[in-house]
Amino acid sequence: MCGIIGINSSKPVSATILSSLKKLEYRGYDSAGIATLSNGLINEVKSEGRVDNLEKNLLIKNMEGTIGIGHVRWATHGAPNSINAHPHSSQNVSVVHNGIIENSTLLKKFLVSKGHKFKSQTDTEVIVHLITEYLKELNLKDAIIKTLKQLHGSFALGVIFKDQPDLIVGARRGSPLAVGYGPNENYLGSDSYALKSMTNKISYLDDGEFCIIKKDQIDFFNEDGLIDQVISMGDISSGLKFFYRLPPLCYHTLLIHSEALVFHEITNGPFKMEDTIWAPWSPDEADQNAVIQYMAALVNSIQKLITK
Ligand code: GLU
Repeated sequence: MCGIIGINSSKPVSATILSSLKKLEYRGYDSAGIATLSNGLINEVKSEGRVDNLEKNLLIKNMEGTIGIGHVRWATHGAPNSINAHPHSSQNVSVVHNGIIENSTLLKKFLVSKGHKFKSQTDTEVIVHLITEYLKELNLKDAIIKTLKQLHGSFALGVIFKDQPDLIVGARRGSPLAVGYGPNENYLGSDSYALKSMTNKISYLDDGEFCIIKKDQIDFFNEDGLIDQVISMGDISSGLKFFYRLPPLCYHTLLIHSEALVFHEITNGPFKMEDTIWAPWSPDEADQNAVIQYMAALVNSIQKLITK
């Protein structure tokens, strides 16, 4: 187990990524690294050992870029050294990965036959080259879908692209992955703890989902690229605010989750509706207001029931 962080912001991100990586140290790691986009290029800095070593690396101090990904690694394929440390990058794509790609040997053979050159011994590097290969013929979303379908095993991923300086892609199967919403910046992280110093608006990718993180918006997709219709909520036990991802006017799903809402009311008392309900998928403000009104009515009737 190890950790991923991603930040899409309008401010420089390397120092914040570094301090978030320190929060992920408890998960165990043998090396660490950061990649950012700046001046139209992917920059990578990686070090063996503790995050402190990465911090001492002089290249980090001058690392520019308002979008970036970071990683603490626990090696499964390839020695724990700075070459095998993540991120792994081609000219166009940079990837951080938690987990194991079980069919990496087979995928590597295919990619080498297409002319791709590998720098590390990791299973992860096949992901970089698969995305790079598919981007030759497909748009970003389709290249991601095609890549994810090729992978066997478990993964949480963070990906940045030289030619898409406004977004980070996150994806998960098996390994956990959270996203966080901030003021004109958004985040990706292995767990809520890594994101907590930046935001308390946190949501989780469901298994098999991927997401596109822009500064002002996060879109979630299932493995076929369709906008996902599943609700997620914050982890009540960690004291995070209750947080829903809602498809427009999906009342029946709300009903299914009303039990959880009752539980929240009983354990945490009344809460401010505008802090806790958000419908980022609905482009129409009227839809969002309708959902909020529905939830307000629901809470009202629950409160009446509790006080009877
Ligand atoms: N399997 C990958 C590697 O060995 C990722 C390990 C991890 O989850 O840190 O680089």
